[in-house]
Amino acid sequence: MNGHILLVEDEEKLARFIEMELVYEGYSVEKAFDGRTGLELALGGSFDLVILDIMLPEINGMEVLRRIRKTSQVPVIMLTARDTVIDKVTGLDSGADDYMTKPFEIEELLARIRTALRKRSQPSAVKTLSACGVTIDTQRYAVSCNNTPIELTKREFDLLRFLMENKGIVFTRETLLDKVWGFDYAGDTNSVDVYVRYLRGKIDEVFNIKLIHTVRGVGYVIKDE
Ligand code: CA
Repeated sequence: MNGHILLVEDEEKLARFIEMELVYEGYSVEKAFDGRTGLELALGGSFDLVILDIMLPEINGMEVLRRIRKTSQVPVIMLTARDTVIDKVTGLDSGADDYMTKPFEIEELLARIRTALRKRSQPSAVKTLSACGVTIDTQRYAVSCNNTPIELTKREFDLLRFLMENKGIVFTRETLLDKVWGFDYAGDTNSVDVYVRYLRGKIDEVFNIKLIHTVRGVGYVIKDE
């Protein structure tokens, strides 16, 4: 068995189709057709991954995700009919691992499931990273500057962590989207600028340091100087 997957999707025809494909790929599947049942199953069972529709009866998918994240770091792939930057940013910021916009190719979903499960089974060996007095503990998701804790969202943390892991390397916005967001963002590279701004607001400006450098016409880099 490849893994135990919870599928929360109120369109029963679509749910049955996804289930059939997942079972064919060797996964075991449990289905829920509304948010409340999905949440109960997610909190009660031991799933390797959750596929979660956003527009659901009773409790919507975003709220289900929020409640799952209070106690569990199970990988979650969100499904939605909508496709805007705001929705994606909100979804990923709430702790979703990936995002699929309907309609999608089943092969694409299967690929993202494999990616999410692989990431899950290979936690980073590196524990502590630092630059310019900023230290991050990758296992505790903790960040501090000169021993003062810094509160970051998961997405801010992931971006900072990627740049810290690759100190001195300049990345384009496209590469950062690919590496940190991990899905095709269809050219909405503004999200990278938005998150760099968030990080600078919480770190550079507060501690009066220059951590994330802009390389004009190229992208961003963290230098340790
Ligand atoms: Ca739905």
